[in-house]
Amino acid sequence: MNLIDTHAHVYVDEFEADTTEILQRARAAGVSKILMPAIDRATHTVLLALEAKHPDLCVSMMGLHPCSVKENYKEELQAASKLLASREFIAVGEIGLDFYWDKTFVKEQVDAFHQQLDWALQYDIPVSIHSRSAMDECIEIVAQHQQGKLKGVFHCFSGNEVQAKRIIDLGFHLGIGGVVSFKNSGLDKAIANIPIKNMVLETDAPYLAPVPFRGKRNEPAYLKYVVEKLSSIFSLGIDEVANETTANAEKLFGVGQGIKN
Ligand SMILES: [Zn+2]
Repeated sequence: MNLIDTHAHVYVDEFEADTTEILQRARAAGVSKILMPAIDRATHTVLLALEAKHPDLCVSMMGLHPCSVKENYKEELQAASKLLASREFIAVGEIGLDFYWDKTFVKEQVDAFHQQLDWALQYDIPVSIHSRSAMDECIEIVAQHQQGKLKGVFHCFSGNEVQAKRIIDLGFHLGIGGVVSFKNSGLDKAIANIPIKNMVLETDAPYLAPVPFRGKRNEPAYLKYVVEKLSSIFSLGIDEVANETTANAEKLFGVGQGIKN
């Protein structure tokens, strides 16, 4: 099985004590690439260091997470922008809107999202979008920037079928992770009529571990439980789900056997 985890923060403190084991388990479970979204300046160093240590497996994105958009967000954006200009990154991420925890910086979050979507267009790379309690707002802003060139993933998609259809109509992918295995999440029904060609896999490690590890620390090796759940939703073989979603991720991000762009 060849899998790509399109969204995992394997560089954060939760993994510090056993990073080597986590990455070994990922490889043993067939994970050939782990795409790592950036958060903010506090973790740029550890993010880039992990990529430098395991360049065949761990690949960095660059961007400012909406939950890190505060008073100083312009400085944060400047730091991310400088890094983006200094070398190649696989994607701009993670970026978006999060109105769940705190609505103090809504205006600033919107501004940062617009700017970072423009970076993706400028560098012609995909985006990884974080959207919490702000799905329709995120879709609307992406639509404003979609000039037929913007591409990416609504990471940890947990919306309804109407939103899923709007996202794929915009040429975007749905990032499917552990939530799909949660009882009563409703995600299985929301995506049941969406073609699998519009989906990529992710863990969002260390968060949102799939059943049977719900509530525990998540890690890329658990991707297989997401594959199993998708296999039952779509009545497809395990290998078919793995091959299809991996091909989607390779094409979108230009990794693996796929040719970049
Ligand atoms: Zn994330």
